[in-house]
Amino acid sequence: MARAERAAAESFAALLARARACRVCAKELPLGPRPVFRLAPSARLLIVGQAPGTKVHATGIPWNDPSGDRLRDWLALDRAAFYDEARVAILPTGLCYPGRLPQGGDAPPRPECAPLWHPPLRAHLAEVRLTLLVGAYAQAYYLGKERGASVAETVRDFRAYLPEFLPLPHPSWRTLAWAKRNPWFARRVIPALRRRVRAILGGRV
Ligand code: SF4
Repeated sequence: MARAERAAAESFAALLARARACRVCAKELPLGPRPVFRLAPSARLLIVGQAPGTKVHATGIPWNDPSGDRLRDWLALDRAAFYDEARVAILPTGLCYPGRLPQGGDAPPRPECAPLWHPPLRAHLAEVRLTLLVGAYAQAYYLGKERGASVAETVRDFRAYLPEFLPLPHPSWRTLAWAKRNPWFARRVIPALRRRVRAILGGRV
């Protein structure tokens, strides 16, 4: 490895270690900090989701739950391909489990997390050809005012954000009913998503 490459690799390793040791919002996290993400500078596809749930917090493996099974089905990737971090990077909008809302449901990702960690980590992902924005929080952070009035509107208009981003709904069990109400998602978005992912991971984009 050349000296410059070694220095870059070391600084990436140091950054990863710093992110994995983060305790910035520890007081707000009911289960304590446990950043869950996977990255390598060679990754060609980046998946930005919401934040770990309790199962992901317990195992330390992102998308290791029924939502992950649904996302892999949308992408037409098996677990081996999905978890090949040399090709697929996974970085949620909030890296740690944020807890529950008083009225039920997962709390939003911690607001300090993405501004703190996404820019420096993404700076090392020069090979990424497509970033999937999975759910409302990822779309809000990356698209800001450019996103539609709802997740459905943003996803339906997915071509407007290509080639850099492709927005998707969060693949929770609630999405099953949502997909029934929005048949264009299976008809238009999923086939386009699979084509792009196949081309990108096959090195043709
Ligand atoms: S949620 Fe983000 S900012 Fe908060 S402790 Fe975890 S990594 Fe740090």
